[in-house]
Amino acid sequence: MTDTTQHRRRVGAVRPSHLMYTGGVGALVDLPNFAVLVRGIDDWNYDTFEWEDLKEPRLLRAVNGLIGEPYGAQVTQLRPAPWMDGTDSDPTGPASRVGVPVLPFPQWLRCTACNTLAGLDSQVFTFENARPRRPDQARFSHGNCTAKRKGKHPLAVAARFVLVCQAGHLDDFPYASFVHRGGDCAKATHPRLEMLDHGGNQAANVKVRCVSCGDERNIRDAMGQRGEATLPRCRGRHPHLSTFDPAGCDQRPKPLVIGASNQWFAQTLSVLAVPPTSGSALRGKVEQLWEYLRKATSPQLLDMIWDFPQCKPLHQWSQAEVFDTIEAHRAAETDAAPSEAPSYPDLLTPEWEIFTSPQAPKATEDFALNPVPVSPAFEGVFSHVLQAQRLREVRALIGFTRLDAPDPEDPTLVARAPLSRSRVPAWVPASEVRGEGIFLRLSEALVADWEKSVADSAALAAHREAYVEFRRNRYSGRVQDNDDPLRGWPGARYIALHTLSHLLIRAISLECGYSSASLSERIYAGSGDNRRTGILIYTAVPDAEGTLGGLVALAEPEKLGRVVRRALRDAERCSSDPLCADRLPRPPHEDFLHGAACHVCLFVSETTCERGNRFLDRRFVVPIGDPDLALLNGLT
Ligand SMILES: [Zn+2]
Ligand SMILES: [Zn+2]
Ligand SMILES: [Zn+2]
Ligand SMILES: [Zn+2]
Ligand SMILES: [Zn+2]
Repeated sequence: MTDTTQHRRRVGAVRPSHLMYTGGVGALVDLPNFAVLVRGIDDWNYDTFEWEDLKEPRLLRAVNGLIGEPYGAQVTQLRPAPWMDGTDSDPTGPASRVGVPVLPFPQWLRCTACNTLAGLDSQVFTFENARPRRPDQARFSHGNCTAKRKGKHPLAVAARFVLVCQAGHLDDFPYASFVHRGGDCAKATHPRLEMLDHGGNQAANVKVRCVSCGDERNIRDAMGQRGEATLPRCRGRHPHLSTFDPAGCDQRPKPLVIGASNQWFAQTLSVLAVPPTSGSALRGKVEQLWEYLRKATSPQLLDMIWDFPQCKPLHQWSQAEVFDTIEAHRAAETDAAPSEAPSYPDLLTPEWEIFTSPQAPKATEDFALNPVPVSPAFEGVFSHVLQAQRLREVRALIGFTRLDAPDPEDPTLVARAPLSRSRVPAWVPASEVRGEGIFLRLSEALVADWEKSVADSAALAAHREAYVEFRRNRYSGRVQDNDDPLRGWPGARYIALHTLSHLLIRAISLECGYSSASLSERIYAGSGDNRRTGILIYTAVPDAEGTLGGLVALAEPEKLGRVVRRALRDAERCSSDPLCADRLPRPPHEDFLHGAACHVCLFVSETTCERGNRFLDRRFVVPIGDPDLALLNGLT
């Protein structure tokens, strides 16, 4: 990363994948001596190195579905982050000039020797980075320090509080007005401040003092509901874009310590690069030509435009097939009428279609499948097992949120902060990872029977009710009366498949010594008439790219049998039982969308789980109480 406030200077190094998960646009990143904020993409520089955009039309369409304008500006490119290998071996070489721009933030610093608290614009502190080979030594110092001892100027560190709001704004903590209780200093127009920070994680140990007038106040006064109510309204500041929202912001900001994990959450979309099936290729074409084809409201009208050049790309299909697809697209469009809550684009259907197509698709550089026989012991459980020998996952960053993570069901529930100053950026940051995986398809008959048998159970009712309650809380009054309270409810099938997926991930990691954080999951459970029973477990860790190798081998009948048995055996007991086994999702616990599940038995890392460890319950997979609830009985 590079600091562009004065001159471009390298201040640290993070891998590009980092930008998708923990430290992307708008995130605060803690460096050894101060903290920085990753700037918006308007300031990213692509002139100094060679790069190529990532090609994944399906992902690009999905990105535009969420942040493009339906008939206006569109995102046209998925760009890799500015990155060049080689800073390790040649710290002053070309790679050192390539990076993601950052600015120091918070912009208030505290001298570690004399406790002077001042903004960067006050010129009290100076930036030092004498040794370009050691970006980790970049620091701010207090040149005129009264407590200065021999040698170096004392180090100035970030004053560790910032303000953050639900709308994704970020601001400096208003120390001067805070210490003067909302007013001005009685003695000075530019009061001199001090911060007495006695360390620890508690704000209770931090005091702000005005040297000019003697007023002082503990940061604790700004904490909690009562404290927050005394803070000024949010100024609508996006420091990563250097903007203030001209319309202001009606949220009450919340003080956060800079290392807090809820200061930034990425909102990303990811797809597997799958070759189109004939059906999905046709859907893609219809989508592309939609502005033209929407006029074809009857087979006759389609026939009239059929021979026009615009329709040429459709001629590999019959008019009847094309018309059916047009009608399906029209129905989907009407379904997603503006009155409806927006939803994430359906990225899974083309993947499910390719995993379940009767004929394995021709292998490509990005995608290769190999069916393997199902072990006789698991016939009736798994209908298909596939080795995904090659996979390519492309992920795009479309924005970020603060305080709350993006909702996995509703992309607009938590306000998304923008990546750029323009409303629709011309491009978004993206990354690609190549890996491998195992695809398991469960028997539809087994799952459908189980679904029927648990449909009226008290356990499932508890999950449903918790979901309704959870939505009501999160929407905080935004749910309309005629709104289906179960909208977005993933269903019993999802919970069972998802739980099984976590069990398998944990067993694979124990069996093979992989870190479970290096695995990802995709659950194909479908909804409505689209019944699906698929689990894909794959390696998609950018930094471990291709080093795992052995995952596909686990799909072989004997090995898979061992992993599955181990997973199910482990699922029967948790060291937190009976507490864990008895748990039903019940409000008002903070995160209560899971039943018998906890960190000991079922949870996996944030980057592994597609649903933030929600919708998990061991009782729906193995008998841990009522055996009638279990999808899989007597297999261990
Ligand atoms: Zn000092
Ligand atoms: Zn004062
Ligand atoms: Zn705000
Ligand atoms: Zn547990
Ligand atoms: Zn999960």
